[in-house]
Amino acid sequence: MKRVIHWFRRDLRLSDNTALNAGAVRAEDIVPVFVWDDACFGSAGLGERQLAFLRDAITALRNSLRELRHELIICCGQPEVELPKLCKELRAEAVFCNRGYEPEEKRVEARVFSALNAAGFGFESFKDSVVWEEQEILTQAGRPFTVFTPYARAWKARPIPAPKPRLTKRRANTRLPKIKSYDLPVVLGVTGKSDAGAAPDATEKGALTTLAKFMSGPVYEYATLRDYPAKNGTSRLSPHLRFGTVGIRTVLAALRKARSRARSITEKKSCDVFLTELIWREFYNQILANFPHVAHGSFRPEYNALEWSENSAHFDAWCNGMTGYPIVDAAMRCLNATGWLHNRLRMIVAMFLSKDLLINWQWGERYFMRKLVDADLAANNGGWQWSASTGTDAAPYFRIFNPVAQGQKFDPNGEFIRRWVPELASFPVELIHQPWKNPAALNRAGYHHRIILHEKQRLKVIEMYRAVKTRSRIGERAGQRHDS
Ligand SMILES: Cc1cc2nc3c(=O)[nH]c(=O)nc-3n(C[C@H](O)[C@H](O)[C@H](O)COP(=O)(O)OP(=O)(O)OC[C@H]3O[C@@H](n4cnc5c(N)ncnc54)[C@H](O)[C@@H]3O)c2cc1C
Repeated sequence: MKRVIHWFRRDLRLSDNTALNAGAVRAEDIVPVFVWDDACFGSAGLGERQLAFLRDAITALRNSLRELRHELIICCGQPEVELPKLCKELRAEAVFCNRGYEPEEKRVEARVFSALNAAGFGFESFKDSVVWEEQEILTQAGRPFTVFTPYARAWKARPIPAPKPRLTKRRANTRLPKIKSYDLPVVLGVTGKSDAGAAPDATEKGALTTLAKFMSGPVYEYATLRDYPAKNGTSRLSPHLRFGTVGIRTVLAALRKARSRARSITEKKSCDVFLTELIWREFYNQILANFPHVAHGSFRPEYNALEWSENSAHFDAWCNGMTGYPIVDAAMRCLNATGWLHNRLRMIVAMFLSKDLLINWQWGERYFMRKLVDADLAANNGGWQWSASTGTDAAPYFRIFNPVAQGQKFDPNGEFIRRWVPELASFPVELIHQPWKNPAALNRAGYHHRIILHEKQRLKVIEMYRAVKTRSRIGERAGQRHDS
């Protein structure tokens, strides 16, 4: 092929990029293009922090491409309109891109394919952001896995592909017609600086540095430290994996290398625990791709009948970190201030919203999508449905985190709480998780009283779920009688 367009989507990097590598191998010339369209990144739209990450990632990508004598073309509009137009103007034969798995991404891809096809141009999409796609790992009966452990076993039994080579310098193409290209910060409406300190380095280089740092030591303690929010025990790779500033094969190759350097069985096991987390990412990706209804409701449809509370004052208190439960409030304030939240805290606040406040998990899911820098429909939806017990392989509905016990176990000295709830900074360890035990000190500190009592809510929520389960069983039996 003479010329192809590489359509950058959630693959904002030059190394280990499957479609880009295919273009480099098969075409004499590649033209890199980014099309800004809300739908590219899901119908929910991007939150402020994701926009800032995207802006920085694209800016860095454009600079790296320039070093290789390529100019990134940035267009605005629907990809199915812009890409055929560009093919004509640039005399490109085809568009190459990496596949997306969210319902909206798939719809956009199908429209792009039809439009290019109708205009006489080629279109090829490649597997890139996951190791195994939704139809590649199936049960013996040929169905998608809905339970994690056997899925992970099947995943691990397969060979792991090597990273793709990095795009290298090519001859400058001086004969390209001049194409209008936009200034991304202006298009995105995010011209300010990313919040200092809190924002991840949203570049391919930043991703590789984060990966190298994690693999040089922390990965060996991951299994023991990953549950403690006050420790920096996790990789912080999630926004990079979300936007593709790092390739999954690169992460896996680095992990394999780190594992080979492990000095003990414990260190090897820690590497394996990290691998399991990466497999959770693929598990939820295939759940969303195979069961797209999860994007709009419970994986188990009977739970769509749950009668949730619509108490907006409670929801606001949860959003703003004012529930009176220190670990929940610290977590939500951290999320609001930084756009990132430790996995343990995501589980705690998600359970608190759905099982203590009895508020629909979808309200929380939407809030997370707006706030998280790594907001990812598949992982977020999976995490929320797990916490609310409405999903695949979810926590049983009667397993309900006690926010006090969770705080005591995973933030034993209250270090994380003190950082984010300054009202409680001087509280002793015995009180920091239950400040209401000293009402006078609580009032003096100006901290909130509990908006609900966990023990009471626990009984209520169990009853709420049990009622739905009973109704659905009666319904099933009635249905069976009717059928027979
Ligand atoms: C309610 C809830 C909402 C969540 N929302 C998101 C989200 O929007 N985006 C997101 O990437 N993750 C989400 N997660 C999963 C997990 O919390 C984050 O991936 C993790 O905290 C990111 O930090 P890290 O990169 O340091 O993770 P590490 O512990 O270092 O894990 C490495 C990578 O594995 C993947 N991973 C780890 N745990 C999970 C998991 N449980 N499910 C899927 N992938 C996982 C991520 O890509 C992560 O970057 C959510 C979890 C819950 C309980």
